[in-house]
Amino acid sequence: MPLIRLIYASVARENVDFDVLSDILDHADRANASQHITGALLFTNGHFLQILEGERAAVNALYLRIAADRRHHTPEILDCTQISARRFGDWSMKHIGADDALTEGRRQILREVLGTERLVPAALMGHQAYQLLLALAKLERSRAA
Ligand code: FAD
Repeated sequence: MPLIRLIYASVARENVDFDVLSDILDHADRANASQHITGALLFTNGHFLQILEGERAAVNALYLRIAADRRHHTPEILDCTQISARRFGDWSMKHIGADDALTEGRRQILREVLGTERLVPAALMGHQAYQLLLALAKLERSRAA
């Protein structure tokens, strides 16, 4: 079964805050591990950006569930690509914040990848979204090390 990555952006409902995000992440962490799905989630300025990696059928099934979730709306797939290896294999789901703590490291990543510090996930091209997630994940791992 081929391995894929899927990246989508969506808009959070108004009542979504960091407590709701924490519920989503708790569930995702447990459920994704059982499906061998890995990835990362960004919650920024009322928008979500998420990357899911795993077997194609499992990622498709999860995306359909997520897309129907009432805690957000207008999901748009930015990228869906077959991959030979995972880049987020260490996380069943990890929040990699962007502007909740807009450190200089994160500002620099936004400037380098997007050419601006203003991040609107739904406006990203697929390759930009992927590069941004990779760079934020790298920063997150270096902070945790
Ligand atoms: P059930 O638990 O049966 O719920 C049915 C529906 O009720 C859900 O689809 C949702 O619309 C709604 N719902 C569920 N819980 C709540 C709540 N606390 N408040 C309000 N509405 C609720 N799940 C994963 O397993 N892995 C992920 O990586 C993942 N990422 C997500 C990213 C985002 C941005 C969002 C919004 C949700 C994510 N979820 C993820 C949760 C996912 O959408 C489903 O809620 C979850 O998979 C449970 O699916 P279910 O069909 O069993 O739903």
